[in-house]
Parts: sequence; C-alpha cells; structure tokens
Amino acid sequence: MEKKTRKIGIMGGTFDPIHIGHLILGEGAYKQFGLSEVWFMPAGNPPHKQNRAGRATDEQRVEMIRRAIAGNPHFALCLEEMNADGFTYSYRTLEALNLRYPDTEFYFILGADSLFDFHKWREPDRICRACKIVVATRNQVSSEKLDEVIAQNEERFHGEFLKLDTPNLDISSGNIRERIREGQTIRYYLPDPVISYIFEHGIYGCAPESGQFDRPEEQRQEDAAVAGTQKLWSIDKKLRKELDENRYHHTLGVMFTAASMAMVWDVPLAQAQTAGLLHDCAKCIPNEKKISMCRKHHVPLTAFETAHPFLIHAKLGAYLAKKKYGIEDKEVLNAITWHTTGKPDMTKLEMIIYIADYIEPQRDKAPRLDVIRRLAFEDLEECMYQILKDSMSYLSANPEDLDRTTETAYQYYKKLHDSRKSEVKE
Ligand code: ATP
Ligand code: MG
Repeated sequence: MEKKTRKIGIMGGTFDPIHIGHLILGEGAYKQFGLSEVWFMPAGNPPHKQNRAGRATDEQRVEMIRRAIAGNPHFALCLEEMNADGFTYSYRTLEALNLRYPDTEFYFILGADSLFDFHKWREPDRICRACKIVVATRNQVSSEKLDEVIAQNEERFHGEFLKLDTPNLDISSGNIRERIREGQTIRYYLPDPVISYIFEHGIYGCAPESGQFDRPEEQRQEDAAVAGTQKLWSIDKKLRKELDENRYHHTLGVMFTAASMAMVWDVPLAQAQTAGLLHDCAKCIPNEKKISMCRKHHVPLTAFETAHPFLIHAKLGAYLAKKKYGIEDKEVLNAITWHTTGKPDMTKLEMIIYIADYIEPQRDKAPRLDVIRRLAFEDLEECMYQILKDSMSYLSANPEDLDRTTETAYQYYKKLHDSRKSEVKE
C-alpha cells in the first residue's frame, strides 16, 4: 500500500446555504489534525429536486461555497458528488477518492447530528475503512453524550472517530432559510459575499436586491468589490497549476496592465482583470491535446487553426474560462477569444486585452514599444493599428502563416487611421 503523505479533510453537506458553522468546522479540523487542505463537497440534488421553491439550485449552492471559501488558501471546492443524476453515497465517493489519491488519508468531518444518524447511512463500515471520521458537537449535545455515541459507533463499525473541539454553534442552513423568509437579519451568519449573492439572486424567497441590511450604497459597492477580488483569487489559485512559471508571470503582467487601461477607458475593472488573468489559460496545453480537446468539446476549428495550433489557445481558453473557471460574462469570453488574432471593430475590453498582451512590462521584443505603450493610454484604435501594422510586417516574412482575421483587422484599423489622418510619431 502506498504511504499516505497528506491528510485531506472532507466537509460534506447540502450547503443550502453554506454558513459560518461549516467554515468554523473546516478551519477547526484543519488546525486540530494538521490537515493539508479541507475540501467542501456539496451533495448533488437529483434533477427532479432542482429549482424547488425556497431552495437554491446546484449551481447556486456551488457558487455560494466558492464565494465563502475564496479567501482561504487551504479550503477548496470538490465537485465529486455533483454528478448528472445528482445521487451519491458517501461510501462510494470516499472509496473513489481513495483510489484516485492513494497518497492521501481522508478525514470526513461531521456535525454531531450526522453522527447520530450514521448507522442509517449506506455501508457505514465501508465509510469507516475509507477514512477517519471527525465529529463536532452541535445542538447542545453534551460532551459525554457525544463520547457515548462515538464509542457505540466505534464498536459497531470499527472506525476511528475523532472529536473536534469547536464551540457549539446553534446555526443551521434550515434556520437561515427561515430567517430569510421571515425577513430577519442573517448578517454575520454567513460571509458577506454569500449574503450579497443570495440577495442579488433572490434565493430562499427573499426579494432580489431588497437590501435588507440597509447597507449604504458605498458599502454595497465594497461588498461587490470584495466578492470580485475573492473570485479572482480563486481563479488564480487554480490557474497557477496550469501554467509554467514564465507564462504565469506574463499573465499577471497582462492582468495588471489591463486593469490600468480599464481605469483610463472606463471599462469595469473586474472584467479587465478576469479576462487578463484567463487570456492564456489554455496556452500550456500541448498542441495535440488542444486539438483533441476542441474535438471532444465541439469547439469548431478551421483548417488554418488545425495547421497552426498555437492559435487555438484563444478559443479553447474561452471555452475553459466558461466551463472550468465558471465565467459567464460573454464580453470577457470574447476578449479571450480574440486576444491573439484581433478582429475588425473590437469592443473596448477586447482591445484592452489584445493590447495589454502586447505591452505588459515583461515584453521586450517588439519594436517601438515605447510609442505603443503610450498610445495604449491615449488612443485605443490607433494603438491597435500600430500593433497590427507591425505584426503584419513581421508576419509578411511567412505569408502562409498569416491568419485572415488578423489581416481583416489590420485593414479595418488602417481605414480608421487613414480616415482620421491621425499623425503618430514613428
Ligand atoms: P440543514 O439545516 O439544511 O440540514 P445544515 O446547517 O445542517 O443544514 P448541512 O449542509 O446539512 O448543513 O451540514 C453539513 C455538515 O456540517 C453536517 O455534517 C452537519 O452536521 C455539519 N454542521 C452544519 N452546521 C453545523 C454547526 N452549526 N455545528 C456543527 N456542525 C454543523
Ligand atoms: Mg443538516
């Protein structure tokens, strides 16, 4: 048997919604048992239970978890139980995780109420063989009572049950849903970014944007900014694993350059940062794999792209941004799609990402970077023209490698340039 070199805590639940009880449990287990990470694993809802009145959808439960754990580097989301038919048994999930991660020892974290039901779960002895079980007190269960139930379970299922020292927190998702229905405050019961998500989407029967806390506008903007930053951090954490070191540093350069340009050009900062951060998310995938992934996921490729696979990362990047990183914003996805070839009549955000990719501080090969960098903050369309002009002359050495879209983009921005007769110091 492979040596177990890391310990992972699994916090399973419906998380409808996730609340501070769950987070305190996860953090407590992390510290007390020296875990490497704690994975929050939402249980799937069968399709017929989706959109039930007063409940959140699977997607919303997942997004709330994402927001709740975003600021904690040792918390992660585990979608193992979010399968198509929405039905899973803990013993199967834990056995599958053990097979997949033979170097990992799993600690399944439960509240006392779940332990009282444990004997009714499917195959409790198999659960016990697959993991250690960490139990926290809840609902004023006394320490003695908890010890007693632990001893019973240990005897019956031969598992290892460990007691977690946490405060008794009388808080549950059910209670929070009820408070929302009754219009009572839930402030401090859940992290702020989760509360704002609930109210933005009108979940659990609250009126969307009812602003139940009477939070002043500037504080609400602050909440949104915090949620936005946390989302960026969680993207960053995943993305780091997909890129080599140089590409990752370049990516950060593009993100910060795009953010600076967005400040000048009045484009939402979060859009520029997100598109900048993800623009090259598919870049480090080997070319063969890029092609096979596009085929598998029905991302259409032209013959030219198949023959020049370095171009594919833009399209595939937009696909991954959506599927893997959860970006729904079409403007952001388009900016990723067009960052390599450019195209005629680009939006401000698309131009910003295209240009930021060319001028970020670590770039040093292109000619006239000083002029182009200044133009990026003075005239976006002229800047596009100048970059495309240089790219055309660079690519003219191998005209068969010139993408048609780049050529039409060049013609478009040249026409604009000619018609405005703008004079640029060469
Ligand atoms: P609901 O009211 O819908 O049952 P819940 O608050 O119990 O929601 P779950 O998603 O069912 O949340 O819980 C996941 C796990 O977290 C369970 O093992 C549960 O016992 C534990 N848990 C949740 N809240 C607390 C709490 N306040 N103290 C200790 N354990 C908790
Ligand atoms: Mg529960």
